Amino acid sequence: MANTEINKISFVDLAAQYQTIKTEVDAAIASVIQNTAFILGPEVRKFEEEFAQFCETKYAVGVDSGTSAIELIMRALEIGPGDEVIIPANTFIATALGVSFTGAKPVFVEPDAETYNIDVTRIEAAITPRTKAIMPVHLYGQTADMDPILDIAKKHGLFVVEDACQAHGARYKGKRAGSMGIASAFSFYPGKNLGAYGDGGGITTNDEKILAKLHRLRDYGQSEKYHHDELGYNRRLDSMQAAILRVKLRYIDSWNQARRDHADYYSKLLSGTKYVTPIVPAYAEPIWHLYVIQTEQRDMLMKFLSGMGIYTGIHYPIPIHLQGAYKDLGYKTGDFPLTETQSQKIVSLPMFAELSDEMVKYVVDGLLKFTGS
Ligand SMILES: *Cc1c(COP(=O)(O)O)cnc(C)c1O
Repeated sequence: MANTEINKISFVDLAAQYQTIKTEVDAAIASVIQNTAFILGPEVRKFEEEFAQFCETKYAVGVDSGTSAIELIMRALEIGPGDEVIIPANTFIATALGVSFTGAKPVFVEPDAETYNIDVTRIEAAITPRTKAIMPVHLYGQTADMDPILDIAKKHGLFVVEDACQAHGARYKGKRAGSMGIASAFSFYPGKNLGAYGDGGGITTNDEKILAKLHRLRDYGQSEKYHHDELGYNRRLDSMQAAILRVKLRYIDSWNQARRDHADYYSKLLSGTKYVTPIVPAYAEPIWHLYVIQTEQRDMLMKFLSGMGIYTGIHYPIPIHLQGAYKDLGYKTGDFPLTETQSQKIVSLPMFAELSDEMVKYVVDGLLKFTGS
């Protein structure tokens, strides 16, 4: 396909992916309706087994969103009012919300300038007597530097919880994202690498007590039907979504590989240009949820690209500490300078498995045209 034939590249294209798995997905949905096991039941149980296997953990629990996954992990760890949880300042707001909903306080730490993940050298300074957990986020699909984080946590007696909502299948020194903390949160929001056709989330853990607690918390606090041991929620993963996710789980490794190929091609074509491209440390095997570059003229660039039919995104334009929702924490502009500058320069390029080399080339042509090179 010649470049001239391309006139629109979406940021993600879920319809293109559906076309490749339509027969299987349609059959899976029809089967759930036929069997009328809409809540929990075999599809959720099988998905949990398969997802745990994929993450190389003992257990997985299906819940209704990634935000719920984070909150329920916090509750299972008995984190609540008066407690603090350390998170990166430059994450999606849901990381912080999952902490706040328990009454605990999110404490922000700047990212590393190159990897965008939590700066492990700044974590200890954020620890107080109230700190209960450190929750690194594997941002953009690349794992945080887990070994130093696990060491710091051990030294101070803290839990490590992974926010793996963008990192289904990523690896750190060979280990899967979601297999290193006491428990880990995943999102199956449609645009995530493993996305449902609606909301969904998951928790992985190797800990049986946490598993049992999560089973109660997501299901009205019951350990058996109509026996309610504690105040629980209704936060279950839908059987329909579980059936769809089971189909998609069979393809996730190949989709992640396709994203890796696109990322390599972007990086190759952009090397030596004015754009700051992603850096992958030796410990990381990313799954490229997002391919993020930096440029000084970000907003003008995005407008220019959209004129060529190329749609980009910003993850995220306003840091959490400057959001109205968190004004009670009393932060102001300048408190997290790196997070703030990055938020003004970052732009996420189109990234999904079904991209072609020609499409990646077209995006890069647009980027180079913009800088006049
Ligand atoms: C998507 C996401 C969440 C929240 O997941 P939902 O399923 O949308 O609730 C949490 N943390 C990160 C880093 C995310 O990207």
